[in-house]
Amino acid sequence: MATASVCEDEFEFDDDDEFEDTLDYSHQNLPESDSGKLLASVTNPARVKIFQLNSNLLFALSSDIEKFQSLLTLELSDNQLVQLPHEISYLTNLKNLYLKNNSLDDFSLPKEFHRLQKLEVLNLGGNRFKQFPYQLFQMGNLKELYLGSNRITHLPDLFQTLTKIEILYLGGNQIANIPDSIGALRSLVVLNLCDNRLRTLPSSISHLTRLKSLSLHNNQFSALPSDIIRLDLQELSLRNNPLVVRFVRDLTYNVPTLKELTARTIKLHRVDYDNKSMPKCLIEYLNSAKSCLNPKCQGVYFESCHKNIKFVDFCGKFYLPLLQFLCSPACTSSTSGSTCQARTNPSDDMSSKFKKVLLG
Ligand SMILES: [Zn+2]
Repeated sequence: MATASVCEDEFEFDDDDEFEDTLDYSHQNLPESDSGKLLASVTNPARVKIFQLNSNLLFALSSDIEKFQSLLTLELSDNQLVQLPHEISYLTNLKNLYLKNNSLDDFSLPKEFHRLQKLEVLNLGGNRFKQFPYQLFQMGNLKELYLGSNRITHLPDLFQTLTKIEILYLGGNQIANIPDSIGALRSLVVLNLCDNRLRTLPSSISHLTRLKSLSLHNNQFSALPSDIIRLDLQELSLRNNPLVVRFVRDLTYNVPTLKELTARTIKLHRVDYDNKSMPKCLIEYLNSAKSCLNPKCQGVYFESCHKNIKFVDFCGKFYLPLLQFLCSPACTSSTSGSTCQARTNPSDDMSSKFKKVLLG
């Protein structure tokens, strides 16, 4: 490994006969001015494959980085970078780029950043991004993407291009929405969404059939979509979410309107209707009926549904509070005369189930 010692303003470089393809200048307290000199002084930049410049004091990277055409790994974490030169986009062999703990924001990545088409691992954790960098959606070979501990509030619904992603780390942001297209990440094994502001997940999450680890702790989840039961998870963290107790207390059920009650009756008793007997808007309304999720209930609902929490034993390890939409509160009660009987635990059992969820 080549070494450099910093003596005042000068560098000394080993001039080994046998050229090493790794340059390690990490932990050298390299200030900005010296990094430019350093990059210019490397004799065979085109042969370097691994370049470690992490843990220095760099706030910019010299455009000479362009000369390092064979680079596979560039380690720039723990510096003070505010901007990347557009020349970094020319490192088209780069597979691993580490930029953790810098001062990068929404304007720091060059426009052509997506030219790094061979990039597989990108670490942008601990920076100042408020938006998910749009260039990344054009980088279809990414396998690991770390964007934790930034300030991201919103995720665009464009994830369908990132089909090779296996690890997606978005913990420690201010994200309030997970878009449907997250379900297109068919290779995803680890999804970390902890420490955000999430209240719900899209049901497309159930398409992530390879997912093994799902971190949801420290969010605002009240319940999870019932499709999540299809996943075969090995790890699930749910601690510090409102989940059940508050949600159940806050559940409100708006009494259906007379229009809805009439329409429910028409559907339940399969009364024939056609556009001669009814205005078009009512036909459309009737056709918008959604089935009650209680399998024993034949009922439907329109605008007024009863949201219910159903606990399900998940992978034999967790009790999950899943959100159900039912036609009426009667659908959840086992003592009512209704034929609707969902498998719901009585509320006095709630606290013990709640503990299991939190521990899970
Ligand atoms: Zn029902």
